[in-house]
Amino acid sequence: MKRTPETPAPDDAAVRLAIKPVICYPPETLPAPNLVLYAKVRQSLEKVSEAIADPREAATFHVPAGYFFRITSVEGPQVGDLNLWNAHDLTERFYSGKTRALHGTHLTTGDRMWSSFPMMRPMATVTHDTLDWYGFDEFGGSVHDVIGTRCDPYTHNLLAGGHYHHCCHSNLIRALADETGLPLSEAEKHVHDVLNVFMCTGFTRDTGQYFMKASPVRPGDFIEFFAEIDLLGALSACPGGDCSSEHSSDTAACYPLLIEVFKPAEGALAGWQAPVANGYDRSHGRG
Ligand SMILES: [Zn+2]
Repeated sequence: MKRTPETPAPDDAAVRLAIKPVICYPPETLPAPNLVLYAKVRQSLEKVSEAIADPREAATFHVPAGYFFRITSVEGPQVGDLNLWNAHDLTERFYSGKTRALHGTHLTTGDRMWSSFPMMRPMATVTHDTLDWYGFDEFGGSVHDVIGTRCDPYTHNLLAGGHYHHCCHSNLIRALADETGLPLSEAEKHVHDVLNVFMCTGFTRDTGQYFMKASPVRPGDFIEFFAEIDLLGALSACPGGDCSSEHSSDTAACYPLLIEVFKPAEGALAGWQAPVANGYDRSHGRG
């Protein structure tokens, strides 16, 4: 809850409050993905691999640049926590905060997952979202957020005590360690704020508090991405299940998530090029 203000409102408070907001980063100023090409290419895809994120566990997967990957709800409503890295350089990873600034609190078709500085380029573009009908509900909630971080055992320890080992943070660490051979302590440094796939969240209108509600996802729903660069991904099937009540325990009903990787037809991507590193010269005002 917000504290009651200690400072009296100034005489021109109403005028200041009435100033209309402006969008920080109008999306039309960003380099636009070729959605027409992606829509055409996705009509003739060939599946090349799949992985399953078991309930309260995570799975890793590789997607070459120019391929597509799809995350599908199977068996029951389930939220997934997604991390992406450049497959050749783990220091280039998904940048949730910048993606939020560029595209808003929730992602859908046409939005992109941007990578960290100094590369700051699109890693993946959302090419299909069967939950795009949801939009924003009366509470201000929507699906696939980049506002939550990931459930983690540190916050759980602060709030509730104890040691819960199947938060998405730990699931992603174990999966990345298994994939790379890194020790857990090193793998932990590469795990980052996620795209909350299928999660339904928002901020309360009156107090601005982060909220979640039962995900509208049902078996068969999927979100699909085009890989702009060679990707290593990790997806955790959140211990919160559909995130209707709580995180960080074994009480919520929890289901697997399916990850599928698809190859485009030969020559279908003619003319497409992977995004290059960000153009800033990195001199930061020195020399
Ligand atoms: Zn989680």
